[in-house]
This record gives sequence, C-alpha cells and structure tokens, in this order.
Amino acid sequence: MPELPEVEVVRRGLTRWVAHRTVAAVEVLHPRAVRRHLAGGENFAQRLAGHRLGAPARRGKYLWLPLEDTDEAVLAHLGMSGQLLVQPHEAPTEKHLRIRVRFEDALGTELRFVDQRTFGGLSLHDTTPDGLPDVIAHIARDPLDPLFDEEAFHRALRRKRTTVKRALLDQSLISGVGNIYADEALWRSRLHYERPTATLTRPRTTELLGHVRDVMNAALAVGGTSFDSLYVNVNGESGYFDRSLDAYGREDLPCRRCGTPMRRRPWMNRSSYFCPKCQPAPRVTGAPAPKSP
Ligand SMILES: [Zn+2]
Repeated sequence: MPELPEVEVVRRGLTRWVAHRTVAAVEVLHPRAVRRHLAGGENFAQRLAGHRLGAPARRGKYLWLPLEDTDEAVLAHLGMSGQLLVQPHEAPTEKHLRIRVRFEDALGTELRFVDQRTFGGLSLHDTTPDGLPDVIAHIARDPLDPLFDEEAFHRALRRKRTTVKRALLDQSLISGVGNIYADEALWRSRLHYERPTATLTRPRTTELLGHVRDVMNAALAVGGTSFDSLYVNVNGESGYFDRSLDAYGREDLPCRRCGTPMRRRPWMNRSSYFCPKCQPAPRVTGAPAPKSP
C-alpha cells in the first residue's frame, strides 16, 4: 500500500509531466476504476474533456489534480496497486490499463491509470474553498505540511482516550502515516504502540513527530531517484523499505539499538513490530491488561 512518500513521488512526477495540459479525451476501460465517480465512466470522461489540469496537490496519502477553470478536482485513489504512468502514445497498452487520458498538445505522451487489483481509481469532485476535493475535507494535514499544527495535535492526543499507534493512523488527527512508518517512528522514539496518548508530554510528542518526519524524508530521498524518469510509478514498494527499516518486518532479528530479538504482534488486522526492551509495554491500571508483553 503506497504511503505518503510514495504518493509524494507520484505528485512530483505529475507536476513535471502532466500539470497545465488540457485534456482532449478520456477512455475508461474498466468500470471499477471510476466507481467512486457515482455518475459513471461516460460522465467522468465528458466532464474532463476540454479542461486544463492544474498543479497536482497532496494531503497525506491523497493526491488530486485540480481543474484550472472550475472548482473541481480529479482525486486519484491508488489503492493497493494503482499506478499513474506517463507514457508515449505508441507504448504498448498495459495488461491492467483502466483509464487513459489523452491531451490536446503535441507532447506525444498520455496519462495512464494502471491497476492490477482495481482497488484504486479516479473520480471528479467539487473542491472546498481551501481547494480540497470535498470528500477528503475531513483529512488532517500531514506532518510534512508547513501548516501542520503541532500544538493542536498534542492537545488532541492528551484529550483522547486512545493509544499512540492508533492516533498516528487516525487520518482526522494526522494524515499520511501508515503502518510501516508508524512502527519505524515508534521504534526511534522508544514508544510502545499501546502507550496511551494521554501520558505523552509535549516534548515526547515533539520527539515523536520529529521521528515521523525523519522516516518520511528518508523514504522521499530514496524515491527521489525516479523523478527524472518519464515513467511515474507507484507500486507501494520503494527501495527504502528494503534497505532502511529498523522495526517493520524484523521479527526475531536483533534490535539495531540493543540486540534484543524484535517482536511482532497482531494489531488491527495488521502487525506491530517492536523491541520489547527499548519499547516496554505500558502499565495499565483499571483496564484489562494488553495481550502483548
Ligand atoms: Zn531494543
């Protein structure tokens, strides 16, 4: 599943190759890819034709292309396997090509939405006064956003009866932090994933956010190598995941800080990876003890 850094790589690629081009025609090759556009594929294609695309924007894992001359935007859902490719017209059609966007100019390239598992797709939405597609107006800013309000985030953590990893994945509090980045940032912060957020001090919140940003920026630095390519690609696997992970996927391997074997625990249909020594489980009073140590 693509996380914020992968989506940001795609946004930068689209900025370079697609922004400010006028749509000539849209071809929808699979109805599932436009299922979030409730009026259907034909309507989607009709309403895009003739419009100029603005600068691509992102909030958390959400990516959209505003239309320059209306208060509408095309929202891209990458799902599990969605890819946005900029390809020469003559490039062979991908096996899982779902949507093709042709442009009026003579640059010789087109935008293709390719998605093997068809969890993703494109849809057109009205935008809010802030320029967000209305369906994601409730999504909080991400920690790389200069306008992210750290103080408000900390106050929300103190107020909420929740645990730290749940809070990191709560898109209404902070967006763009997925399971992998949460585990990495928690390991760096020496925080157990079940730590109640009400116990976090302001410096701890600041430290945690700093680690979240560092993990994301490290992933962005790796993904940056593909910016120069014509091929804009997201497949949920950046080189970063193979090389630089300290927690995620490291069950039974020695903690890179203390050597203790790392553990994995089921967590909300996913997994949490942590060091039992560096990230001790919180003591719980007046509530059932957590299953994990
Ligand atoms: Zn450790």
